[in-house]
Parts: sequence; C-alpha cells; structure tokens
Amino acid sequence: MVNRERSYKTEAIILNSKSFGESGHIYIVFTPNLGKLSINANGTKKPKSKLSGHLQITNRCNLVISKGRSIDTISSAETTELFPNIRENYDLINNVFYIMELFDVFNPINEINTDAYKLLLESLRWLNDNQNINLLILYIRMKILTMSGWDLNFSSCNLCFDENKENLTSISSNHGGAICTVCQSKINNSLTADAQSIKLLHFISIAPREKLLSISLEIPSIKKCLAISEFLIHDNLGFKLKTKLF
Ligand SMILES: [Zn+2]
Repeated sequence: MVNRERSYKTEAIILNSKSFGESGHIYIVFTPNLGKLSINANGTKKPKSKLSGHLQITNRCNLVISKGRSIDTISSAETTELFPNIRENYDLINNVFYIMELFDVFNPINEINTDAYKLLLESLRWLNDNQNINLLILYIRMKILTMSGWDLNFSSCNLCFDENKENLTSISSNHGGAICTVCQSKINNSLTADAQSIKLLHFISIAPREKLLSISLEIPSIKKCLAISEFLIHDNLGFKLKTKLF
C-alpha cells in the first residue's frame, strides 16, 4: 500500500489574504521550497482565533498544512519572525502592500523560486531596519525583473551595441534595456531617459544590497529611476498593479 502523507510542513511569508466562507480566509503565502501557495484556514474570522494572529501579512511563519482535494488547509501556524517597525508605521502600509503584490504577481502558484523568497525576506528586514523605501522599491523591481528571466542590459545600446554611456538616452523593454540616441528614432514604445539614470539602473541591477546602502544617492536620481522601473514592470506584466504608490 502506498503511504501518502496527509500533511506537510513549510516556512512561509504571508503575502495576502481574502475572506473565504463564513469563518475563514484564503491565504496566499510564499515559501522557499514550494513556491507560492494558495491555501485556506478555518475559523480565522473568529475574534479568538489563534491562527489569525500568526497569519498577518508580512509575517514569517512555520506552517503545518493538511492536504485537501481542492485546496490545502493550514492546521497550525507559528510566527518565527515579524517586522514590528513596518507594522507600526502607517506611512509604509501602502508600500508594503505594493511589495507583497509585486511578489504575488511575479510568482505563479507552485513555481519554486528560492532566490525570490530570499529577496522578499531580505527586503522585509531592510524595510524594518532602514526605511529608505524609494531605494528599496527600486532595488526590488530591478532584481525581480532579472529573476523573472528578463535579461536587461543598461551598459550599452541594445540595437547597435554602442558602449558610450553618454549616448544612452532611452529605454525599451522590447529591445532589452538601454537604447542610444541614434537608434531611439528607429523604434516605437521607448521611454526617454537620461544617461545618469541609465547608469544608476545598471548599478542597482548588479549591486548587492550592502553596496547600495553604503553609497549616497540623491532623491531626484532615485525618483527618475523609479519612473523608469515602473515602466519596465508594467511592460513586463502587461497590466498595472492594483496597489498604487504615492
Ligand atoms: Zn544604438
């Protein structure tokens, strides 16, 4: 007789939740070794639910999950890491929901992406310790685009291979990144950018977090790169995220 396990354990970060039935919720969770899961929990709407306290968005938890025919169910949850500075800062809520949505839409159900899980955990720790939110959003966008298999190049023109950085003046997602002034006139759907922002995007897409935090970046430069990265994310997904950043 085949011995089929009826339940399994995993660590997870809670990305999202929505009401399910009379008393429960469906949770979208991201795990290091199983990818993104959509699972339910019963009784989490009840005021005294022990589970619901652990299953707050952004919490990192250890879960025991029972297998079901159509959907698996969380049978126990224990928080292993929470991020109190994020939770208590009302100004950050919108950004946190944006980050959670970004990881949700870029990761299909059951598709394992351990690097993306590490990036999410790293990002939550970063935000909890150092609330440079604009730089973090930029960092996450560039890393998540690379992890999704989009090989963007900002160090030379993607059409004529001109390596003179000063000539790079626009971005095209269809053509894989930076485009020079000459080539820009030959293509559609490019976004005009300045050479400085393109250099910074190149640096952010290859730099480790520690290096990024050790240099001082001016807010206007970050804001310009944020606009470019938003264009790239939108182009990659083909739709706009529900959460708007202000
Ligand atoms: Zn060119």
